[in-house]
Amino acid sequence: MEHPENDSKYIGLQVNGGVAQPPVVNPYLQHRRRRMATPAELVEGILKGDITMLSRAVTLVESLVPEHQAMAQEVIEKCLPYSGNSRRIGITGVPGAGKSTSIDVFGLHVLKGGGKLAVLAIDPSSERTKGSILGDKTRMEKLSVHPDAFIRPSPSAGSLGGVARKTRETIVLCEAAGFNNVFVETVGVGQSETAVHSMVDFFLLIQLAGTGDELQGIKRGIMEMADGIVINKADGDNVHRAQLAQAQFKSALQLFPPTASGWKPEVLTYSGYYELGIPEVWDMIDRYFDYVKGNGYFFRRRQEQARYWMYESINEQLRDHFYRNPEIETVLPNLEHEVLADRLSSFVAARKALDLYFNIKPTNG
Ligand code: GDP
Repeated sequence: MEHPENDSKYIGLQVNGGVAQPPVVNPYLQHRRRRMATPAELVEGILKGDITMLSRAVTLVESLVPEHQAMAQEVIEKCLPYSGNSRRIGITGVPGAGKSTSIDVFGLHVLKGGGKLAVLAIDPSSERTKGSILGDKTRMEKLSVHPDAFIRPSPSAGSLGGVARKTRETIVLCEAAGFNNVFVETVGVGQSETAVHSMVDFFLLIQLAGTGDELQGIKRGIMEMADGIVINKADGDNVHRAQLAQAQFKSALQLFPPTASGWKPEVLTYSGYYELGIPEVWDMIDRYFDYVKGNGYFFRRRQEQARYWMYESINEQLRDHFYRNPEIETVLPNLEHEVLADRLSSFVAARKALDLYFNIKPTNG
């Protein structure tokens, strides 16, 4: 008997027969494996401004699979003739400076004038946290639902150089898809500004007032890169402090050597949250573009950037090829150990690794 409890000697006890355990996976679920679009299809879609195709192409750019990378390069190459036609604006500031709030309102302001806006990001910390904070749609509430905005978080895998290269390639794809405004966001805490600076036309530094030591803790190098400094949260009680910070930044900038563009970086105050002073910030950026297009610096800078990225790509690939070589991977920990134990000098160890590398016979592929 299946249920002995149902025997008549157990009065008042009744166990019902159960139902069969349903399968864990719904059998009606259709497994629709998406066919991978060919590079030609991706290019066609991108040139039509198809966001799905653009996203797929960006995913290929970010992929670590060699086959995807080859496809991505093909797409980029075909898109290149249609790229370059945008204002590339770098935006940096420490966490909490108000980057996402500001990008949301700056973005809407820009889009009011028509056109399309791509928001990309370079987030060096994403490598460690395995998830990127910057460029996250949830942080830009209004832009994220705007039909003419494309928001893409930072590529997350690889070195800063690798992450930056991917963002730069994504700019090409976005421009080919008709995005005539590109924001590249980064955290103002280190090397990533240099990477962003090397791919944008205008570099905006968002600062905060009210700490009493505005100029401390901000690296001189970052200020030197800035084409505009904007002091956020100039609202309520904070207006006066923001103006004070503005004066301090202005006088600090006077001590800096003239910029390569001849443009004198401006310092403005605004409030991203209360949307105060936003058109003024944008007027400054418009004036900058007029100025550098007028004196030829705009094109010079882009050419310098193109050259920079050529060498960066070479460096990155050489480094990758070296460190990914299985023989090198085996020998490096031993050499490191010898160096740390003072049995080998750093230079001799490096030489040994390089000698080995240069003598390794290349294999096909
Ligand atoms: P992010 O980390 O640089 O992206 O900074 P967020 O945009 O997330 O802003 C950090 C905090 O500052 C949030 O709580 C915002 O609401 C606040 N905030 C941003 N802009 C302003 C502003 O203009 N005025 C004031 N009072 N608060 C702001």
